[in-house]
Amino acid sequence: MSERGLLIVLSAPSGCGKSTIVQGLLKRRDRLKFSVSATTRAPREGEVDGRDYFFISHEKFDAMVDNGEFLEHAQYVENRYGTPRGPVERELAAGNDVLLDIETQGAFQVCGQCPDALMVFLLPPSFEELEKRLILRGKDSPEVIKRRLEVARRECLEAEKYDYRIVNDEIERAVSEFDSIIEKERRKINKQ
Ligand code: 5GP
Repeated sequence: MSERGLLIVLSAPSGCGKSTIVQGLLKRRDRLKFSVSATTRAPREGEVDGRDYFFISHEKFDAMVDNGEFLEHAQYVENRYGTPRGPVERELAAGNDVLLDIETQGAFQVCGQCPDALMVFLLPPSFEELEKRLILRGKDSPEVIKRRLEVARRECLEAEKYDYRIVNDEIERAVSEFDSIIEKERRKINKQ
């Protein structure tokens, strides 16, 4: 029978380059599966339902909460986000590793429920750089950017509570570091 996979939680302030890192990592690791979250936020240009997120109504979100369908869920800025439990359980049972790209409140819920989860925090090289990236991305209004930066400052204070911190100074380097961390943790599990 195959070994149970590793649950990996990645948090980072928005605009930190997290999706690029996630894409790079998924390319390198065959047995790493991305957990597609559900959200009440509207799709951004280019986002595809079922690939980037499951875009759902507040009513559907409430129903999923009531039915215990989320491994974790949280409110972030003005929207709600949650990790559907079923697909995560299935992939882990099949021996695949699962990557959750979630904010800190949800991350700590997962950590409480699954103490073996690997907790990784991606840091921006600096706040000036983060602000620049959010503006250049051009996807949010100045008001939303301001709020995202406030949240980002608070989130970075939580980074200390994660198992590993990676600074996204250069994409390839950060992906390699993340890849090595997963490799190291997998070896530890296999030895146990
Ligand atoms: P965005 O709106 O920029 O896609 O995501 C905003 C924040 O929500 C990001 O920090 C992202 O990691 C987080 N997020 C995405 N999916 C989930 C989820 O399922 N649960 C939680 N708690 N946070 C999520």
